[in-house]
Amino acid sequence: MEGNPPQSGGGFHLMPAAPLPVDEKDRLSALSKLEILDTAPDERFDRLTRLARTLFQVPIALISLVDSDRQWFKSCYGLADSETEREASFCAYAVLNREPLVVKDATEDARFSDNRLVVGAPFIRFYAGMPLYESGGQPIGTLCVIDTVPREFVESDLQALRDLTAMAENELTHFEFELAVRAREAAEAREAAILAAVGDGLVTIDHSGAILSLNPAAQAMFGYGADELTGQDVRVILSDEHRTEIQAVFVNSSRPSAESVTREAVARHQSGGEFPIDLTITAFRSDQGLVLIGAVRDATARKRAEAETAAALAAQQVANDELARLSRQKSEFVSIVSHEFRTALTGIRAFSEMMRDQDLSADEVKDFAGDINADALRLNRMINDILDLEKMESGNLVLRPEEVDLDATVDLLVARAQVAQATHRLVFKPGGLGAVRLDEDRLIQVVSNLLSNAIKYSPEGGQVSVRTWVDNGCAHLAIADQGVGIPKAELERVFDRYARIDADSTRNVSGTGLGLPIVRQIAQLHGGQAWAESKVGAGSTFHLLLPLGGP
Ligand code: ADP
Repeated sequence: MEGNPPQSGGGFHLMPAAPLPVDEKDRLSALSKLEILDTAPDERFDRLTRLARTLFQVPIALISLVDSDRQWFKSCYGLADSETEREASFCAYAVLNREPLVVKDATEDARFSDNRLVVGAPFIRFYAGMPLYESGGQPIGTLCVIDTVPREFVESDLQALRDLTAMAENELTHFEFELAVRAREAAEAREAAILAAVGDGLVTIDHSGAILSLNPAAQAMFGYGADELTGQDVRVILSDEHRTEIQAVFVNSSRPSAESVTREAVARHQSGGEFPIDLTITAFRSDQGLVLIGAVRDATARKRAEAETAAALAAQQVANDELARLSRQKSEFVSIVSHEFRTALTGIRAFSEMMRDQDLSADEVKDFAGDINADALRLNRMINDILDLEKMESGNLVLRPEEVDLDATVDLLVARAQVAQATHRLVFKPGGLGAVRLDEDRLIQVVSNLLSNAIKYSPEGGQVSVRTWVDNGCAHLAIADQGVGIPKAELERVFDRYARIDADSTRNVSGTGLGLPIVRQIAQLHGGQAWAESKVGAGSTFHLLLPLGGP
């Protein structure tokens, strides 16, 4: 009053409000955290104020919470308002001093004689308030009783008020607990919504390896229903090998520096099938102790893509190798062919120069002319081979099939080859084949080629045996020699274009690597096959199979 400048408010002179407690900020924050301000009336608190009114025979009983600029009544008996400004608050003093406040006659108390609630309605005279503490120890308000006449308040009254306040604090604790439960439920619902929304499978496991939970993505991935896996051992969804590893992660995770570990693993589906996964394991402490959370991503698609890429790269590599091989063969071919051409042309030039420049006898002229003719024939054969192969491979070779007496043609060819050289013995065993439908020129090309090879690649004095027979609707022709033979690994390759075997025994034999590919192409154009069997050092047999009915 005196010394305190009067304040105005709604026409009343207001006494200064109670000073603020030193830790007012913490107190207000504790009050706000309770989330109790402006909540609906609650019977648990109302029954206490009702009891207080009866017990103390007063018209007004309140549970008043002191907010930053008001006091708000959680429970209020005898007052029409649910709150008043803080300046008019008696309770603020009890809160400030953290002890019971008893005002026997407010008109006699310098702090309140000018209070608007004293000079005006409800004309407070008597006030007794006990601080009300929240569980953290902050006084957030009071339980108080108020009368409009002055009163005494003895020690036993104070004790009764203290007891009632203790009961109100119990209710407050209960209220806080409910709040925590609601907050937890909200957090759990939020967590569940997040778990349901993420695309990755999430599995939580306790320290014994028992599954605590699976989100919907994990349930779908492993093929189980909502709760089917809860409590089961994690081995159910992981291969045994990975369980040991998860335990190792668990042991490491019990150290403070533990981080997430990501690795590939193998998971087991409910159907028993296994599939690859990317697994990220994180350990955290929860109220259930140490818990592992595994984020699982199905790696099947990634693995498949990787395998496909690897296969594509491997195929590319094979193709590249093949290209490199073909290019090597082609350049070998170019050098072989140019060498063969040059040799033949050198012969022709030398023989013709001698015929031009020297006086030759008629026999010598005949010999040289024969040599020139042989070289010219070689050149002609080579050019024909190259052109034939190009034609066959581009699909431009047209066969001219007719009825041919195969045995007779082969017999003639063998006889001619025998006449041409005396170094090898040629034998033909006809198989009594009748007419076969085929292109005779091409048959001659094939048999000549095979006979020439058989002679070329076997030592002098060797025998070349030719046989024919009927084999499953086909004419079968086999030409066997006693020559150098062909290694097993090369048996197919010799049918490739330009392929020649680079061995001591064959290096000096002239050739272009075109004969056998032509043989096979012709056989295939007739609807037949050509292949070789051989034993190195013992000889080779080349087989030709041509349908009797023609191409
Ligand atoms: P060329 O005889 O002109 O080299 P070919 O295509 O006819 O070409 O034969 C390819 C290769 O197959 C020959 O270089 C040779 O190494 C091998 N070869 C072919 N026939 C025989 C055979 N009867 N005995 C051993 N090797 C052979």
